Amino acid sequence: MSHPFEWLSLTSTELKEKLKELGEAPFRADQLLKWFCFGASPDEMTNIPKSLREKLSDREIGLLFYPQIVRKQQSSLDGTVKYLFEMYDGQLIESVVMKYEHGNTICVSTQAGCRMGCKFCASTLGGKVRDLSAGEILGQIISAQRDFGERISGVVMMGIGEPLDNYDNVMRFLSIVGSKDSLNIGYRHISLSTCGLVDKIEKLANENFPITLSISLHACCDEDRSRIMPVNNAWNIDKLLTACRKYFDKTGRRISFEYTLISGENDSVEQAKKLAQLIKKYFGSRPVHINLIPLNHVDERQFSAGSREDVKLFCDTLNSLHVNATVRRRLGPDIDASCGQLRHKASSNNDK
Ligand code: SAH
Repeated sequence: MSHPFEWLSLTSTELKEKLKELGEAPFRADQLLKWFCFGASPDEMTNIPKSLREKLSDREIGLLFYPQIVRKQQSSLDGTVKYLFEMYDGQLIESVVMKYEHGNTICVSTQAGCRMGCKFCASTLGGKVRDLSAGEILGQIISAQRDFGERISGVVMMGIGEPLDNYDNVMRFLSIVGSKDSLNIGYRHISLSTCGLVDKIEKLANENFPITLSISLHACCDEDRSRIMPVNNAWNIDKLLTACRKYFDKTGRRISFEYTLISGENDSVEQAKKLAQLIKKYFGSRPVHINLIPLNHVDERQFSAGSREDVKLFCDTLNSLHVNATVRRRLGPDIDASCGQLRHKASSNNDK
């Protein structure tokens, strides 16, 4: 599906061009970008002439849209806020704002739904409906920041969707979000998480965005990985880890691996040892970090999380073999803050 023309998807150079085309002064671009970052409607843009404000509201010209909050849940334990946003065409997606000591980080969605089919994940249950545009990814940060009332200084692309399956829009989003005229979020505070689309990882290595690449590995051998992640049939672990090593050698950016621990599937001590061997085989002494994530229960899936002790044992085994691993702190446990479930429930019940 092609997207309508959206103001929020433009880079500052493109916005200047667009203004010229509409017979407006290009210097208005800087003013407009400030208003866009604030999530302002045309009526609120007090220093913009009425003629231009009218053009911004004119659907024949284009769409100025910020994701609308349909539901909001706030954790009383750690301040995490989860938003269910509605897009211009009624699609629902989720974003989560997390408070860390070093600042607020948002987890954004990159697609409405997902077609990767990971067996433990809620986001893929209804398949992929459509890609999100660059402006819709940026818009999640803008709408959340406006509601949250504090600056958001970090982004993780770990919400609904596979970012590398929406490559061009995600690259466009990256070039806008880090630009000084826009939200000016530092690339070192941005992570992109992928289930392992190897051809796109190779492409990403040449883009020169100093972001953190996170790989959803979740298994220590092809047999285990193919069982839970269909993408492994297209690019197996050898292809994936070879691409990751090349990515590191090209960019110098430490790769981060995500490993969701699923009871009886991938969480034995034996599997931890195999994982350590695997990482050493491909990375040698290069720096790597493994993020262990205890599985979040998904009603429609039969998988469950192991005990706290199992998780600790898996982590300790990796560390004892000199592979750097930590267990991800679970934020917003009282609001079910992991992504995918709200969209799925709201879409299937049609209860907004
Ligand atoms: N498509 C991308 C990003 C979205 S998911 C990717 O696959 O990386 C973000 C992370 O959450 C991924 O590592 C994903 O595998 C993991 N995840 C999905 N469902 C989960 C669940 N039920 N419990 C724990 N982690 C889950």
